[in-house]
Amino acid sequence: MRAIVKQTKGPGLVMTEVDEPEPGPNEVVIDVAHTSICGTDLHIYDWDEWAAETVPIGMAVGHEFSGVVSQVGSAVEDVVAGQRVTGEGHLTCGHCRNCRAGRRHLCANTLGIGVDRPGAFAEQIMIPAANVFVLPDHVPLEMGSIFDPFGNATHTALTFDLTAEDVLITGAGPIGCMAAAIASHVGARNVVVTDVNDYRLGLAAALGASRTVNVAEQDLREVMLEIGIREGFDIALEMSGAPAALRSILPGMIHGGRVALLGLLPDDVAIDWGVVIFHSLTLKGIYGREMYDTWYKMGVFLERGLDLSPIITHTFPAAEFEEAFSTVRSGLAGKVLLDWRSG
Ligand code: ZN
Repeated sequence: MRAIVKQTKGPGLVMTEVDEPEPGPNEVVIDVAHTSICGTDLHIYDWDEWAAETVPIGMAVGHEFSGVVSQVGSAVEDVVAGQRVTGEGHLTCGHCRNCRAGRRHLCANTLGIGVDRPGAFAEQIMIPAANVFVLPDHVPLEMGSIFDPFGNATHTALTFDLTAEDVLITGAGPIGCMAAAIASHVGARNVVVTDVNDYRLGLAAALGASRTVNVAEQDLREVMLEIGIREGFDIALEMSGAPAALRSILPGMIHGGRVALLGLLPDDVAIDWGVVIFHSLTLKGIYGREMYDTWYKMGVFLERGLDLSPIITHTFPAAEFEEAFSTVRSGLAGKVLLDWRSG
């Protein structure tokens, strides 16, 4: 079968033939319909220090996907061929303290598809049956392929109660935009999204941000006064990984405010710890998705009218993956999909 593979220790990816997966007793093989490109895939393409230490050579990459189940292992009972599915790309160990306590998103031994084991940028992907999420009938396969980042957005947004709160989201990438949609959907008072990219701020507005701010051109403090935020934001979701964004959040928080951190920040970011301590702020790191409550809630959000369709801005045939990667890098895109059924 065709797959997009990291074939040499260096920048680049190639489309090549690899062996089709054979399911073990508890595994499921899925014929891939759509995949979506993540920032992680760009790091693997570029072969940065993290990728060089982590990703095996010769392996298919990619972890955001949807498709149709084609084979199930002999012990699989609750997934059947023909079901439209996506899946959790984090495989957990099942025996560490957190796994045994039902907190699988905090597993100490997580392995990722497309990172540690063969990924989804291929005509077929194999995952444990327990990781399969059957798509509700109302969810198109295109939307199913972005459940992984939609899950990051959902997990982050629901970490703190947003109802009636003033919410700041720094970073209008796809996850920030989806988090804005969720914050609005669950009843936040103001949903303010900041970035320095007007295209992405436009997407955030299309998805439900009540106010977007290009912080290269406008002062966030002025906007806060204009829209009636007197004492500061109640909740902030940091989605950019930009040190300047984190620094801009802290003085704008209400005393006792809560900050969820999803964007991966550099190791050496200095912040004003006096603000954190004297204003009694809570900073919480977020990783992955809760298994599988986040997934359940995503299905319900879409059933109850959450409209994320504007975030899918491009779809390319899988063979044109180079152009698709370039489109992601341009910054002038939301989610960019590869279609594995159209060549
Ligand atoms: Zn574990």
